[in-house]
Amino acid sequence: MLHSSHMQGTATYPIDVAAVRRDFPVLAREVNGRPLAFLDSGASSQKPRQVVEAMVDYYYSHHANVHRGAHTLAAEATQAYEEARAKVARFLGGQPSEVVFTRNTTEALNLVAGSWGRANLRAGDEVVLTVAEHHANLLPWQRLRDELGVVLRFVGLTPEQRVDLDALEAALGPRTRLVTTFHMSNVLGAINPVARIAELAHAAGALLLVDGAQGAAHLPVDVAALGADFYTLSGHKMLGPTGIGALWARRELLEGMPPYLVGGEMIRRVSLEGATWADPPKRFEAGTPSIAEAVGLGAAVDYLSAVGMANVHAHDQLLTRHALARLGALDGVTLYGPEGDDRGGIVTFEVEGVHPHDLATMLDLEGIAVRAGNHCAQPLAAALGVRATARASFYLYNTFEEVDRLASAVAAVRDRFGGPA
Ligand code: PLP
Repeated sequence: MLHSSHMQGTATYPIDVAAVRRDFPVLAREVNGRPLAFLDSGASSQKPRQVVEAMVDYYYSHHANVHRGAHTLAAEATQAYEEARAKVARFLGGQPSEVVFTRNTTEALNLVAGSWGRANLRAGDEVVLTVAEHHANLLPWQRLRDELGVVLRFVGLTPEQRVDLDALEAALGPRTRLVTTFHMSNVLGAINPVARIAELAHAAGALLLVDGAQGAAHLPVDVAALGADFYTLSGHKMLGPTGIGALWARRELLEGMPPYLVGGEMIRRVSLEGATWADPPKRFEAGTPSIAEAVGLGAAVDYLSAVGMANVHAHDQLLTRHALARLGALDGVTLYGPEGDDRGGIVTFEVEGVHPHDLATMLDLEGIAVRAGNHCAQPLAAALGVRATARASFYLYNTFEEVDRLASAVAAVRDRFGGPA
């Protein structure tokens, strides 16, 4: 694949979209008699052949349990699993020993709260987070508030729907132990200035946990440049399979953390009286892990790295700008998220007089897949004063033509069913 700039019809893209699309068989199918326009990658991306084939090859030729037994297949499976860890580490700019495989971002965030949080937070200690977090980065902290008496301080949004950094700075104090927020919002598309937030957090003596479920999938990530102490990702949002995610954390933090789940694989010695723990990352991977899924994630990381995450982001932004212009030109359509370049491939919107679920159903009749609902961020919906919205999300395989189809279909639904409620 070439990645300079690519003409497709009259459109120019930073990546070779036609070549990319050929790698994703599902994109050739029809839905309701129309070509599929898959605009729901924010929920879960499609998978290229390379990922599926890596998993098939693993299962057909190399599968055994990892870290157990001296036989050849066990050694090959272990090598494949550890190579996948090294790929994820490189992708994030970290070390393999700093990458813990989890099921997804939700599990990675719960691991930080359940292990680091329980070991380090006391009643009255403060965790600073925003009103725009996904429930996955809210509920684990609410649980610690209820169980340990940890105080949660919520930072609101500016009128432009960015995280209010002045309010964030004001929320920091001598009891702040952790700041946690998203890299890229799954509703607003807003990209947080993570490096600046890290500076503020560290100046207050707190750590920074970044929810990278969207960020790792759509933006170049360098955990050191971001100043993150913890960073999480979900494989299924970044071309990989379901059932695999990761927590990256600075080595010395992982070393000081107690296990989250206990059982096989994560111990050094066990007697009837007790146990001692393996070093990280094994300490946090109790039981048989998702081996084939890790291999698939490694292939996904290879794929994204070959395209280049800066190109992926540039492509997302082109389509987002186009979608904002096309949808923004329609009377009766309200757009959410900041104006400017600090946003990624997500456009959340409402059509006056049409419930988002009805809108999504009518778009599906045209073969267009979008998400409708509160996007697992009910407090954000409350802050925005909406109950539900529709969300189109873009990835490296989407085209201008699909965005045009979306805008035309939204206009048609509005003309038929919309109007003041
Ligand atoms: N955080 C953000 C910003 C997300 O968009 C999502 C998924 O939608 C999550 C966390 C949770 O990810 P998962 O369901 O893969 O655990």
